[in-house]
Amino acid sequence: MVVVIGAGATGLGVARDLALRGVKVTVVDQWEPGFGTSGRFHGLLHSGARYVVTDPTAAEDCYRENTLLRAVAPDAIEQTGGIFVRSEDDDPGFEQAWLKGCDRAGIPVTALDPRAVRQRYPDLTTRVASAYWVPDGVLEGFHLLQMLAKDVLAHDGTLLSKHRVTAIQTVNGRVTSVSAQGPNGEVEVGCDAVVNAAGPWAGAVADLFEDPIPMHLSYGLMILFAHRKFPVVVNRLKSPGDGDIFVPHQHVTILGTTDVAQDSPIAPDIQASEVLRLMDLGRELVPGLDSWRVLRAFTGVRPLYDGQGHAATSREVSRDFKVIDHQRRKGPAGSFSVVGGKWTTFRLMAERTADIVTQYLGISAPCVTAQVPLTLHPVTSFSASEPYLCECEKVSASQLTAIDGSLSEWRTATWFAMGPCQGTFCAHRVTALHHALFPSEDSGAALQDLRAERTKGMLPVLWGANAREYALQQAVRFQTLAEGDPQWAGNSPGLKNSSPSSEGVTL
Ligand SMILES: Cc1cc2nc3c(=O)[nH]c(=O)nc-3n(C[C@H](O)[C@H](O)[C@H](O)COP(=O)(O)OP(=O)(O)OC[C@H]3O[C@@H](n4cnc5c(N)ncnc54)[C@H](O)[C@@H]3O)c2cc1C
Repeated sequence: MVVVIGAGATGLGVARDLALRGVKVTVVDQWEPGFGTSGRFHGLLHSGARYVVTDPTAAEDCYRENTLLRAVAPDAIEQTGGIFVRSEDDDPGFEQAWLKGCDRAGIPVTALDPRAVRQRYPDLTTRVASAYWVPDGVLEGFHLLQMLAKDVLAHDGTLLSKHRVTAIQTVNGRVTSVSAQGPNGEVEVGCDAVVNAAGPWAGAVADLFEDPIPMHLSYGLMILFAHRKFPVVVNRLKSPGDGDIFVPHQHVTILGTTDVAQDSPIAPDIQASEVLRLMDLGRELVPGLDSWRVLRAFTGVRPLYDGQGHAATSREVSRDFKVIDHQRRKGPAGSFSVVGGKWTTFRLMAERTADIVTQYLGISAPCVTAQVPLTLHPVTSFSASEPYLCECEKVSASQLTAIDGSLSEWRTATWFAMGPCQGTFCAHRVTALHHALFPSEDSGAALQDLRAERTKGMLPVLWGANAREYALQQAVRFQTLAEGDPQWAGNSPGLKNSSPSSEGVTL
């Protein structure tokens, strides 16, 4: 038995790889799949082109995995393609280095006519100097996590949600079990090996092995707009930096990102000044950005491995990954960590980790994840006349009731409450349905968590239509529904129908 700590892309990837090799696994997560960075990213299936100059190994890994994932997980990937655009303000020298890098990494690149690009994508700056097509794609992270979890369960694996691993037990220097704290107290899971796939918490878990690892954490801010303005991923052709990418994700667009070093695995509250700076950077590529209807802002924390020592900024830390056998350092036999990498490279990270773990266990089964397809749950059929409970994301009651999960699992499986109204009209209706089906769960607390999370994302981008939406949401929640403590509504921020300038945003 192998215990995998963390149900993000890395942990579920490792668990699936091991399960397909016939190893019994239990995945333990302190919350639910996607609670960490794997539920808080751009959704880019990297072609690798972003990293060819600064991080060639990561670039090659990304391209190989990009090609492979398109074949094995087509239901979770949109093959949008991507463009790299150099503006007249950007360094032409970098363009030459970038083209050489793509060539070295084997990434196919097609030169585009800058005028044709401008005509096709009129939201782009008029100052397009050159443009290239690359095989970027878009990855539906929550669906891919569900596919991975489904396969783990189908292969006799176990998923223990809402349990935080707090201790590792050893006998004669070998791992024998882990202790995890859950809603009903502590549980102990016996095992022959433990894999630490705890993302930004990997440093804390390695401390349980008494073998610290040098993690470099940094958070990135992303802004979500309620339109799909580009059918392709749009990258700025310059050295990777802040505010240089727009990713179309279903019917929304994500502008990313920033890079702020920090110690905690949880990002701090988003400041209006950070949002305004990211908007400023985004405007350099899309001058009319203010006219796009903003939905929310959110952050994710990068779990980078700083093997070289102490990098000053996370841009200096490789996006490559590292598998650590702690027995070769100071830790007990049977303790492993897998850190760094990207969502795009999760399968490769899992393969390398499972190779080392199976070798330790004396099992010779080969990796099959490059061949075995990943499929989504069968889509529940529902009558076209059935009303939607969530109109924005077109989610019906029968789609929800087919999912045996918590309210937040219903949300990540269907995207209810994630559209323009951010749950104003659907959150209470869906909660009522969930409560009817799962009366023993604390639906009130789950609704409060959902409301708090949506509010947290809306507040830092309170201008234009989003400000009006927020005011409407407050009225529906606290006047129509008399939800929660009325005092809270009285303390809510003032609103202005404004543009996102520093004078306009009222926080
Ligand atoms: C802003 C931003 C944008 C990004 N964009 C992209 C992108 O577009 N494309 C791409 O390929 N990559 C992207 N990445 C990188 C990618 O998202 C991460 O590399 C990846 O999601 C990390 O997954 P993980 O499973 O290692 O960590 P996580 O997803 O964080 O999973 C770790 C899990 O461990 C659990 N855990 C931690 N401690 C414990 C414990 N003690 N007990 C039990 N459970 C525990 C947590 O609850 C969590 O669920 C982005 C990252 C950031 C920050």
